Amino acid sequence: MRPRPFHLLRPRTLDEALEAWNAPGADAALLAGGQSLVADLNAGHRTVGTVIDIKGIRELDELALSGDVLRIGALTTHEQLAGIGEGDLPPALAAVPRVARTVAPRPIRVRGTVVGNLAAGFRGATWPALLGAYGTTVEARTPDGRTARGDVRDAVRFAAERYVVTALEVPAGRKVGWAEATVRASGRSCRVACGVRREDDGTVTAWLSGLAPVVVRHENVPPADEALGELARSAVAGASAPARTARPAGPEDETELWRTVVHTVLRRARNDLEEEAA
Ligand SMILES: Cc1cc2nc3c(=O)[nH]c(=O)nc-3n(C[C@H](O)[C@H](O)[C@H](O)COP(=O)(O)OP(=O)(O)OC[C@H]3O[C@@H](n4cnc5c(N)ncnc54)[C@H](O)[C@@H]3O)c2cc1C
Repeated sequence: MRPRPFHLLRPRTLDEALEAWNAPGADAALLAGGQSLVADLNAGHRTVGTVIDIKGIRELDELALSGDVLRIGALTTHEQLAGIGEGDLPPALAAVPRVARTVAPRPIRVRGTVVGNLAAGFRGATWPALLGAYGTTVEARTPDGRTARGDVRDAVRFAAERYVVTALEVPAGRKVGWAEATVRASGRSCRVACGVRREDDGTVTAWLSGLAPVVVRHENVPPADEALGELARSAVAGASAPARTARPAGPEDETELWRTVVHTVLRRARNDLEEEAA
């Protein structure tokens, strides 16, 4: 399908982009790598009068380690993170390039941005779970020129309120364990992704993506298998999907399947953290 015709703007500054996006009556969308937006326009899931391509805005083009914080500008692609060499990052951030290499087929990785991945807010996305576990700050510019900050869950809201997300700041304070699984059930393919971080009191904080449209944080979870099983049970019970699909696979509904998947992903992320720490 071809998208409905739209105007294409190519602002050179953040202020120009904000002005165009927030002009009275503007029916516009921001375009970064286009890997989600263009698919939505082509499929007719979204129609807009104007597309604002932000790729020419130099102030969004940054990727730098400053002290113990990795700053990822809004134009940084998955592939740029995948290309960071071992030894170029503090050891605690080793999962960032390792996981980046697993995101999507290479042509998507080369064009798609990490910020676009957070702002699009799709289920099972990789970066919200990993960067959430690192305690990443999302920085955005508001329509009236202020700087807003939040965590990875705020990226979707920032984009909905027409803030331009400018950068992510990933602290290198703690290692993060990572796991994901893709399951096919009732004719649908669903991914559950999880990043876990150990806290000072020995519990873990788990960031789970896939059971809700936006990543969910679970705090103070004991890392034992049994407690992770309990978390999987409550996470699936509170999920809108994929646990509840229209067409059950068997005599029971699919709740048990999803509990098993979430429990497995949680245990694998916990084991990954322990291996990293060893
Ligand atoms: C075949 C395929 C496989 C994939 N596999 C994976 C996978 O394994 N794991 C995974 O996590 N993802 C996967 N993806 C999703 C892909 O990672 C995202 O589509 C991509 O990262 C989105 O980034 P983008 O720059 O292309 O965003 P765009 O498509 O340009 O934008 C996406 C949305 O974010 C908004 N936006 C973009 N930048 C900003 C900003 N700076 N401020 C505010 N709003 C903004 C846009 O307005 C739009 O609504 C896959 C996609 C495809 C097509």
